[in-house]
Amino acid sequence: MMIGIENFELWDNPAPEELASTATEFLYQLKGPTILKISGRDTSRCRVVVTLLHGNEPSGLKAVHRLVRDKCVPEVNILVAIVSIDAAVAQPLFSNRFLPHQQDMNRLFKPPFDGGQGILAKNLLDLIQEVRPEAIIDIHNTSGDGPAFSVCVRQHKRYLDLASLFTHRVIITGHRLGSLMEVTSLGCPVLTVECGGAMQPESDEIALRGLTRFFTKPKLYQSVTVEEMDIYHHPVRLELSSSRQLVYSCGPQLNVDVTVPTHIDRRNFGVVRPDTALAWLGPAGINALCVLDEQGNNVIDDFFVVQDNKLYPRTTLKLFMATTDPKIAVTDCLFYAVKETDHQWDETADVAEWEMN
Ligand SMILES: [Zn+2]
Repeated sequence: MMIGIENFELWDNPAPEELASTATEFLYQLKGPTILKISGRDTSRCRVVVTLLHGNEPSGLKAVHRLVRDKCVPEVNILVAIVSIDAAVAQPLFSNRFLPHQQDMNRLFKPPFDGGQGILAKNLLDLIQEVRPEAIIDIHNTSGDGPAFSVCVRQHKRYLDLASLFTHRVIITGHRLGSLMEVTSLGCPVLTVECGGAMQPESDEIALRGLTRFFTKPKLYQSVTVEEMDIYHHPVRLELSSSRQLVYSCGPQLNVDVTVPTHIDRRNFGVVRPDTALAWLGPAGINALCVLDEQGNNVIDDFFVVQDNKLYPRTTLKLFMATTDPKIAVTDCLFYAVKETDHQWDETADVAEWEMN
């Protein structure tokens, strides 16, 4: 029945008492990538949870452990894929996103599916295709502290319904990196949920509350309205230009291209008006930064202006995923932004192939 499972261990309907009493001991019980199958009241339907694609993001694993231990009987069959066990168990526990010789697992859900991890990604997609789920939730934690949010790759009400189980914040992104949520051939929506930082107790609560609903709700769709949600359409990324340097500090640093305020992450999901300075710039000025839209064009002048060597928003912005980790800022981006005025829901864009067949 289960094609493509060869690189996963299948744990079919674990008895609650078979699971170790703590999430950490439960992790040690898993010998490698694992599928937990939990039969529901209605065995004709299925929902899929993916978690631990990143080994340092344990909120989803903890929630699944609790639900099974607490004898939760789901409404429909649930498959839980627990993926990067090796990275999670490497010491210090739950601190490695992936191992030094590995790639980021959530960048591999696209051809050519090479290597052990690429094949694992393909196995998971094949398995999902086989079970034809109603929905797929991929649970993560953010790299820094902050509130929970969800991410999807296009506009459709069903994403909002799924997101509302966890959070009112939804980002619709056109950036394509090879993540699981980008796979649109699975016949149902795939939503990424970022529960907040791995060290924040609220993150575990959000994962548990959301997954409890996802397991037990008789109907997943057609409950939420656009007005109830805080939607971020098509964000841009603020990136450091190549061969420029960046530091975090409370004040401008001499001869450094970009100085980012130490507490930039406090801006996450807040409104930033044009009178708020977001960084200090060095001799290269604004050329030290670029803002990439979803087509990869530099649109920095559309979003920011420079005044007195400081970077200001050109118009009111909402920021998210602002990091205080220089490594992430340099290799990925400083933060994502949307214009506040860009928020509108276009009903005509609300079509997906899962409704066409
Ligand atoms: Zn992650």
